[in-house]
This record gives sequence, structure tokens and C-alpha cells, in this order.
Amino acid sequence: MTGEQQTREILAELLREFHGRGWVSGTGGGICGPADDGGLLLAPTGVLKERVRPGDFFVVDPEDGHVIRPADDPALRPSECNAIFGLTHRQRDAWSVVHSHALTAVLAADLVPRLTDHLAIRGLEMLKGIPGVGNQDTHLVPVIRNTPRESELVEQLTAVFDDPRFATASAVLVRDHGAYIWGDGVWDAKRHTEVYHFLFEATVARRGRQLEG
Ligand SMILES: [Zn+2]
Repeated sequence: MTGEQQTREILAELLREFHGRGWVSGTGGGICGPADDGGLLLAPTGVLKERVRPGDFFVVDPEDGHVIRPADDPALRPSECNAIFGLTHRQRDAWSVVHSHALTAVLAADLVPRLTDHLAIRGLEMLKGIPGVGNQDTHLVPVIRNTPRESELVEQLTAVFDDPRFATASAVLVRDHGAYIWGDGVWDAKRHTEVYHFLFEATVARRGRQLEG
């Protein structure tokens, strides 16, 4: 099995796993990973993510998003995440990005006042799961506004990548929508996806307890 074929199978498996955790339900969310020829394997849009098969991925150019190789099924269209995944690859050298529609990501962004552009996470051992972050650090996760189309998030995301406060962030929260989480490769992206969802859940749960107390 070639590297790319294996990656296609892993990406399909991760979508099923993430669907089981409520992170890519109702056809929402997405994923990308490295193709053999320097392209990005990109999941299709508007399909049930738990049913995506290895042949359903497109190969797109991470520089401009154009389709290098289509999915096997001609009825499929490439994910709306295309422009954002390409930008994340170019700015952060990420070969794999997960787009989550998890409720916990929406609720975590809700904790941040409208005029504040980040969620501060502190006091959790799991922070060590993010490269360059320790368990004594206050980790800032950027929060951006939602837009009518996913591709329109590019402008805000470009500003985030240029902001030195967010140099160690491997995730961005999108208000009322979800999150983008990335890593150097597929397994890094999977690990960061699990770590950030834990961090979001813990922060939301702790804030709720403070409000009750
Ligand atoms: Zn989305």
C-alpha cells in the first residue's frame, strides 16, 4: 500500500471516529492530509463524514486550492475548507488540519466576551499536548467571528497567523461554528484535536461550576 493510500484510509477512519465523538456530525466539519505529490488530500463537502471512503478524497494544490486530482465519484465537490486548509499549510507548515463542529468548541468561544479575540486556557496538565506549551503556561487560543461562507474566514485567519501572541496556538475557534486544529502530520493533527477538545470541555465545565458557586 502506498503512503497516500494509507493516508486516505487513516483520514476516512478519523472522520468516523470524530463523528462518533460528535465533532463532525450532520455533514459538518472536515479533514485534510498529505498526498504523494505535494498536494493535500481534501474530504468532499455536503456528505456524511462517517461514510467518506478512501476514494472520496480530492487532491488539491495547497498554494491556490485548485483540484489536481478529483475524487473517484464525479458527483462529489471539494470541501469548503479548501482555502483555509491551504492557508494553514502555508503559514504553519501543517500537512493535516481538522475542522470540528463540536458543541464544546462553540461553548468555549461563548466564554469569550465579544470584544476579546482569544480564549485563555490555564491550569491543565493536558496543555503539554500542544507543542511549545507547558502545564504552567497560559495558552491563548484565537477566536474569530463566523462568516456566511467558510472561505470568507481567510482574512481573519491571516491576521491570527501574523499575531505573535498566537505563535504556539495549533487551533483557532470560530464563534457559533467550531474550530480548526492542525499538526505537522495526520497523527499530530489527531492528537491536537483530542487535546484541544479536552481543553475546551474542561474550560467550559470549570466556568460553569464557578458560576454555580
Ligand atoms: Zn464548518
